[in-house]
Amino acid sequence: MSIFTRRTLLASAAAATAAATFAAPAAVLAQAPAAPAGPFVQPPLPFLEPQLAPTISNRTVTIHYSRHGAAYFTALHNLSRGTKYASMKLEEVVVESDKETDRRIFNNAAQAWNHNFYWDTFKPGGAKGPSGRLAEMINASFGSFDQMKIKLKADTTAVFGAGWGWLAQDGDKLVVATTPGGGNLLPRNLPMLIGLDVWEHAYYLDYENRRPDHIQAVLDNIINWDVVASRLKA
Ligand code: MN
Repeated sequence: MSIFTRRTLLASAAAATAAATFAAPAAVLAQAPAAPAGPFVQPPLPFLEPQLAPTISNRTVTIHYSRHGAAYFTALHNLSRGTKYASMKLEEVVVESDKETDRRIFNNAAQAWNHNFYWDTFKPGGAKGPSGRLAEMINASFGSFDQMKIKLKADTTAVFGAGWGWLAQDGDKLVVATTPGGGNLLPRNLPMLIGLDVWEHAYYLDYENRRPDHIQAVLDNIINWDVVASRLKA
C-alpha cells in the first residue's frame, strides 16, 4: 500500500469515526482499517515513501515498511498477547525476551524496534555529514568521517546472510558492531546511532547483490545526521 493510499485510509478512518455519530453509511465504515489493538503499533514513516529515491526506491520502501515491517508488529502483537510482554515497552521486551530460549518474541520485538530506529535515521536531502560533538567523536574514534564510513560499510557488507550493521557508542568512543538476524545492541546496553538493515528485502530490488553499493549510497545521501547526533548519550 502506498503512503498516499494509507493516508487516504487513515483520513477516511478518522472521517468514519467522526461520521459514525451521524450514522455513516456502512460502505464508508467497511473501508476503514481495523483499529490496531495492543501496545505494539507500527509508527508512520517520517517521510513520504518516494522521497528516499534513488537511494532507496519507492517500491522498496513501500514493501519494506508495509509488508516486512508491519509483519513484525503483527507477529509481536499476537505472540505477546496474554504474556508478561504485552504490558512492556518495546525496548524492555527486546531486553527481557533475549533471555528466553524461545526466540520468537525476541526476533519480532527486536525487528520492530530496529525498523522504527532505521526509518527515523533517514531524511531526504539532509546534511551530507555530521557536525559538532558527533563529528569530533567520529574523528577521534576512526580517524575521519570517511574512515568511519569505510569501516561501517566493510563490516556491514561482511554480515553473513541477514543482519544489521551498527554505529554505536561505547562510553566516549564510537564503535562499529554487527548482529545476525533481527538482533540489536539493546541487550549489550550500547547506545546505537545508525542501524543498517542488510536483509535482502532492504536492498535487493534496487541493488540486487550489490550490498556495498547500497550501504555507500545510504551513508552518502539519506542519513539524518541531526537525528544520529541526538542519539549520543552524555
Ligand atoms: Mn528490514
